[in-house]
Amino acid sequence: MTPTPVTIAAEDGQARNPALPTPESALAMRGMTVSYGEKPAVFSVDATFPAGAMSAIIGPNGAGKSTLLKASLGVVPRLSGAVTVFGTPIEKARDRIAYVPQRASVDWDFPTTVIDVVQMGLYRKVGLLGRLSGAAAQQARTCLDRVGMADFADRQIGQLSGGQQQRVFLARALVQDADLYLLDEPFAGVDAATERAIIDVLKLLKSEGKSVVAVHHDLATARGYFDHVFLINVRRIAEGPVETTFTAENLNATYGGRLSATHVDELTLTGGAA
Ligand code: ADP
Ligand code: MG
Repeated sequence: MTPTPVTIAAEDGQARNPALPTPESALAMRGMTVSYGEKPAVFSVDATFPAGAMSAIIGPNGAGKSTLLKASLGVVPRLSGAVTVFGTPIEKARDRIAYVPQRASVDWDFPTTVIDVVQMGLYRKVGLLGRLSGAAAQQARTCLDRVGMADFADRQIGQLSGGQQQRVFLARALVQDADLYLLDEPFAGVDAATERAIIDVLKLLKSEGKSVVAVHHDLATARGYFDHVFLINVRRIAEGPVETTFTAENLNATYGGRLSATHVDELTLTGGAA
């Protein structure tokens, strides 16, 4: 299922091809295939994530969700596929993107303080050899404050709880002042207070016109948190507004027999979960 294509008149008066990504899509990929071995982890995926919205990437373990984000960013190579950010090839739009990787994939023994981790978010702008100004340090502290971690600035990152580490990573993304925020399972293994803090920050970003795309594992909160969903199991299963796309039929197609019928009913009843 694809969203209803919208034809937009370009500046030259020509109607744009609706199949092509437009500046109205925050992130779009066409024909993306990624393989670590013989079997593709992501196969021939087209996806369009709307600008100014909160979008979820949903699918079972091993479905290729993290790979989809990493291959979009070029962290792992794509066999094929083109990726655009606000209509521009992603390679030319790096400074508009902030990425928060899956927490489990990060080496937390790295000896560094919280404030340093946040300031690393500024290196792309400042340059590796550039000196961070006092203003930059202040910016980093403001972002720590936004995620409720201002008191932890001088702690070692490895000494924090999972939820606190996740907040620090969000602060690092915030300091980049990006237009598109990509997050891989931001709520995995965090406590309820941290989950609330993170969702509040993400909703605030959206209210500022930013775009958010998050890999999301908790089906119970998908409807409450997101505007748009992309369902994947190696291939694209469905994408579109959460109301019309997060359906029993699409969830069954995505998870196969892995969800019980009762569970699917609970998740997809209008006005139900979340
Ligand atoms: P998800 O995030 O949906 O759980 P991943 O994108 O992490 O899934 O992984 C998709 C598939 O690719 C899985 O079968 C996984 O085992 C495999 N995979 C992921 N990363 C690697 C890697 N670095 N090397 C080999 N296989 C990988
Ligand atoms: Mg993953």
